[in-house]
Amino acid sequence: MDCRVTQKELLPGVFQWTDRMGMHMTLLVGEKRALLIDTGYGFDDLRQAAARATALPLAVLCTHGHHDHACGNFQFGSVLLFPADFAVCETYAGGWRERVWGQAVDKKIDLSDWNKEDFIHAGCGRCAPLAEGDIALGGLTARVLSAPGHTPGSAVVYVPERKLLVTGDDWNLTTWLFFPEAEGMAVFRASFDRMLSLDFDFALCSHAEGLYPRQALLDFRAGIAQDPLRAGSVPAPGMWEGKRVMQCHPALGQTFCYDFDKLPPEERT
Ligand SMILES: [Zn+2]
Repeated sequence: MDCRVTQKELLPGVFQWTDRMGMHMTLLVGEKRALLIDTGYGFDDLRQAAARATALPLAVLCTHGHHDHACGNFQFGSVLLFPADFAVCETYAGGWRERVWGQAVDKKIDLSDWNKEDFIHAGCGRCAPLAEGDIALGGLTARVLSAPGHTPGSAVVYVPERKLLVTGDDWNLTTWLFFPEAEGMAVFRASFDRMLSLDFDFALCSHAEGLYPRQALLDFRAGIAQDPLRAGSVPAPGMWEGKRVMQCHPALGQTFCYDFDKLPPEERT
C-alpha cells in the first residue's frame, strides 16, 4: 500500500488531505496530539501520511460511516464514530468494498500496489464510540458535535481557535440527503441551525478543496427553507433506485439533493 495522499496546510495546524480518489480528509495538529478526521477510500497508507506531517500521537474519528469517509478505518486500531452510524459503517465501509474497488477501476486509478482480495476483505475496522465534547490537542481544540442529517450518526467538528467548522457531508457544494439512512428534512434543518450557531468564519467540507466562507452556509440554509425549497426543486430521477429524489440550487454554485418522502407532511402536498 503506497501513500499518494497530498497535503495542504490551510490554517495553522489545519491540513487538508486528498487521497488518490480525490477524497478529502482533515488533519488537525496541536502541540500535544493530532486528530485525523475521516479515512477516505482506504487505498492510501494513512499512517505514512500522518508520519510525514507529525510525530505526535494520533487519534482518528469519522464524521460518518460512508465508504468514502471510512474505508481506511482498517489501518488504525480503532476509529471514533457516533454509535448511531456503526451499522452504516458496516454496510458501506465494510460491505461496499468491492463496489469501491470497481469505482476506482472505472476512474482509472492506479491500484498496482494493491491485491484486490486484500482490499475487499480489509473490513471496516474497529469503531469506538464517539461522544460530543472537546478533544484537546494542545493549543487546538476539536469540539465534536452531533449533527444528524446526512446519516443518523453524522458528526461535525468545530475548531474554536481557528473559527473553523469541519462539516463532513452535512454540507458540501453538493449536499446529499437521500440515502436510505438519511434523516428527514426537519432533523437536518435543526442540525444545520445548530452548526450555524457556532462562531465559525470558514468551513471545510469533504468533497471540495479549500476553505469556504460562513456566508456559503448561510446562503445554503436560506435556500432550503420551506418556501424556496418548494419553489426551486425539480425531480432528479436515477439518483437512488426507488426513491423520489428532488434537486435544487439553494445558492449560487450549490446543489442540494433530498428525498421528497422525508419532507415534513405539510411540505409534501
Ligand atoms: Zn456521506
